[in-house]
Amino acid sequence: MSAHDHHSDPLPDTAQGILAEDRAHLFYSWSAQRQLSPMPVARALGSYFWDYDGNRYLDFASQFVHVNIGHQHPKVVAAIQRQAERLCTVSPAFGNDQRARAARLIAERAPGDLDRVLFTNGGTDAVEHAVRMARLVTGRPKVLAAYRSYHGGSHLTLHMTGDPRRWPIDTGAAGVVHFFGPYLYRSAFHARTEPEEAQRALAHLEQVIALEGPGTVAAVILEPVVGTNGVLVPPEGYLAGVRELCDRHGILLIADEVMAGFGRTGRWFAVQNWDVVPDLITFAKGVNSGYVPLGGVLMGPRVFDAFADRPYPGGLTYSGHPLACAAAVAAITAMSEEGIVENAAHLGAEVLGPGLRELSERHPVIGEVRGLGVFWALELVRDRDTREMLPPLGAPGGPPGPMDELAAACRKRGLWPFVHTNRIHVVPPCTVTEREIREGLDILDEALSVIGSHYR
Ligand code: PMP
Repeated sequence: MSAHDHHSDPLPDTAQGILAEDRAHLFYSWSAQRQLSPMPVARALGSYFWDYDGNRYLDFASQFVHVNIGHQHPKVVAAIQRQAERLCTVSPAFGNDQRARAARLIAERAPGDLDRVLFTNGGTDAVEHAVRMARLVTGRPKVLAAYRSYHGGSHLTLHMTGDPRRWPIDTGAAGVVHFFGPYLYRSAFHARTEPEEAQRALAHLEQVIALEGPGTVAAVILEPVVGTNGVLVPPEGYLAGVRELCDRHGILLIADEVMAGFGRTGRWFAVQNWDVVPDLITFAKGVNSGYVPLGGVLMGPRVFDAFADRPYPGGLTYSGHPLACAAAVAAITAMSEEGIVENAAHLGAEVLGPGLRELSERHPVIGEVRGLGVFWALELVRDRDTREMLPPLGAPGGPPGPMDELAAACRKRGLWPFVHTNRIHVVPPCTVTEREIREGLDILDEALSVIGSHYR
């Protein structure tokens, strides 16, 4: 075999073999390259995945909170296979049946008058386009985004992201202004009740708008339920109040539902929990559970009509990719036929939420339990009275802290948790069963006992 005859090289079939090739040639996102210990995944099915040593993990992270329909759903796999045999790729300037049907299925489930879709390759570019649309429609430059937010990894969207992931690249992006959203457990407004938090957060946003100049603000963007920054469920009245503020000042409201959309909160779209209709919704992840990358922007007539007679400046070679849209058509159809969104709502309210609250009665390390649907977080503290945070996840390669130990204790017992700073996000697929939830809760219970005895 010649050195160039790569085709006859078998793929590595051990974790060590894969990691050897990784170490030689790969650049990992969001990582210090020499401090990695990734685990190669061999296969997956439903709520579980397996490593190369045959260990099985219950996927309470849904990977990156995106596998809403579970792993390897047979109808989605078959749809991708069928489409691959017929037409793998086509220019977005042509019509394409899968794209047409995906847009219709999404619009039929969208709130209010949102009934048009621009497809993108993922969440980041969906947010980019939503902000561009808002700026062009209003002719105004600024976008207001929450400090506790994640909106994407590109230049603009990482600047919009309020959390520390922005810091290393922060040269300032023109027109991005941050505000505080509601978070009663660590209230920026010294509020003690939900109504107080809602009212003070709205008064704060109103002042930000007034001081920035209402005529300069194109859009307010928010995650209806804040995702990676803590599964923050808004207090009653907050989203309606933001809608009202935006209306009063001619500002567009963008709901970033990349994580919250497509069943995660027990509704197709998170805003439907509060009957609020934004001007734009960004989505990705759950639209086809990432079987093929896909995202998009949902818009109503106010945005659509602005581009009826002038061209929209922007697009992507893979917009409405036939494989991705075929996966979306199959995933959305299966979610409807199999009652998967209802499953998330029902098991979240009846089993997962109550189970996590019960854990907090036994483990003082749990400061707060919050969430809805299959979108929950446990916020861990050293002391319930002071709410001092449990030391956050250690840097890779550094000394392990309690959160690392907790994650390790879960993994050892066959549960894959989503661990972020001092929180465990409990975000299984929307297809999760009651038995799987109980299995996960039992493992969490044991793992919390392990660290509870160390860190009090
Ligand atoms: N917005 C939100 C709310 C997200 O959670 C994410 C991804 N976690 C993004 C945007 C970016 O999406 P993507 O990684 O698909 O570009």
